[in-house]
Amino acid sequence: MSDRYLDLATSTVGQRLVGALGLPTPVRLERWQSGRMHPVDGALLLGGASLAASLADGWQRLSDQGFASEAGRFDLPVWDPEQGPALKALLFDASALSRSEDLDQLRRFFQPALRHLTQCPHLVILGRPPESLADPMAASTQAALEGFSRSLAKELGQGGTLQLLYVDAGAEDQLEGALRFFLSPKSAYVSGQVLRLRACAARVADWTRPLAGRRALVTGASRGIGAAIAETLARDGAEVWLLDVPQASDALQALAARLGGHPIALDISAADAPQQLLQALPQPLDILVHNAGITRDKTLKNMDDSLWNSVLAINLQAPLRLTEALLDGGGLADHARLVLIASISGIAGNAGQTNYAASKAGLIGLARAWAPSLANRGISINAVAPGFIETAMTATIPFALREAGRRMNSLGQGGVPQDVAETVAWLAQPGSGAVSGQVLRVCGQSLLGA
Ligand code: NAP
Repeated sequence: MSDRYLDLATSTVGQRLVGALGLPTPVRLERWQSGRMHPVDGALLLGGASLAASLADGWQRLSDQGFASEAGRFDLPVWDPEQGPALKALLFDASALSRSEDLDQLRRFFQPALRHLTQCPHLVILGRPPESLADPMAASTQAALEGFSRSLAKELGQGGTLQLLYVDAGAEDQLEGALRFFLSPKSAYVSGQVLRLRACAARVADWTRPLAGRRALVTGASRGIGAAIAETLARDGAEVWLLDVPQASDALQALAARLGGHPIALDISAADAPQQLLQALPQPLDILVHNAGITRDKTLKNMDDSLWNSVLAINLQAPLRLTEALLDGGGLADHARLVLIASISGIAGNAGQTNYAASKAGLIGLARAWAPSLANRGISINAVAPGFIETAMTATIPFALREAGRRMNSLGQGGVPQDVAETVAWLAQPGSGAVSGQVLRVCGQSLLGA
């Protein structure tokens, strides 16, 4: 669905009008295009210490223009604000900060660079998980990074994003995969997020096809976010099984044919859905994406049994039953990657969505609860919580609510299905076993539930 305000605000005439009226000015976000060489298409500025040293010989794979904030670091030229160039990405390693006085290093690194950013820049701060530090001062200093990051993300404007990655000791070698996502337009609609990376033995062999040889199932794949996930997983090399309700068979078959994938017409809430699914899958899956979901909104006092039950059955009970059946029936490979599509409604709550928000919060709970036991088999499970994404589902929201949902975030616009799909594709990579039991929001740093 088109966003008319964004079209206006980014047109030549509209830009002047919007500026003169003092209205918010969202920029058209840059998104990943197939065939790009480097995750960062422009200058990358590196600063800080220790952790990023593991990238000393790897930053060239991120960008072909590297600069350091200080002399003698990474064998790179020092970036000079007077001479430029403008910066596309910033990476500051704050893992060595251990006293509150050290936090000033953040200000000294970011302040000069902030005036010299290109449009849609991507910023990342690295830290150590505060809970892993014995020294209370060091733990407090690392915790402070969270407030700094979330605030600076809100100040960026110009389509900029910023995340904080807490990297456990031993997880440094998984940084490249995370930075390929968070410093590139693949994370165009992800901002203000805090994630933890843990040690993970699995690796991506070929960054041009990180999912080569992996078998993936996506539910609700005939349209919207599910179709984009299937396309993106296939783009990255996976063989895809696409599942949707029998009524969507035509669209499902057409997409499966285009992607060289396999359609499965099945209602995931049917009593025999687990058995049918196991029969339809010839071999264990490496990637399982529970995307199918519905909304049936009504305030609780007006909500009848069928509205309540259908949402809970499809959004929460079906993923739980299907995953249990796949685990018990040998349908999931060791080191599989499971992704549950939740919603920020499950975090913030939403009037008229007690059923939907309960189902989505339940999915987040499932990811957290299942992660420790699945880790024994190297399996990761995470929830992705989209905010306002332009699809058939959000097209049905009444106009005023729709506009509020679109604009109430740091990027001033809705996301597109590709934004959720890129996030799922990153979490589906072998090395992304470094992330498990977590929830990653794809919401442009929505104010809801922030
Ligand atoms: P969508 O356009 O409605 O697509 C969902 C697909 O799932 C549809 O093809 C739907 O078929 C299918 N489906 C529904 N019930 C099913 C069942 N019992 N068995 C198999 N397939 C079933 O939705 P979307 O906007 O792409 O959303 C995808 C996911 O993202 C959902 O889980 C949604 O809750 C979540 N999400 C979306 C947004 C957003 O802004 N769009 C925000 C947060 C979270 P039908 O034709 O029968 O409906």
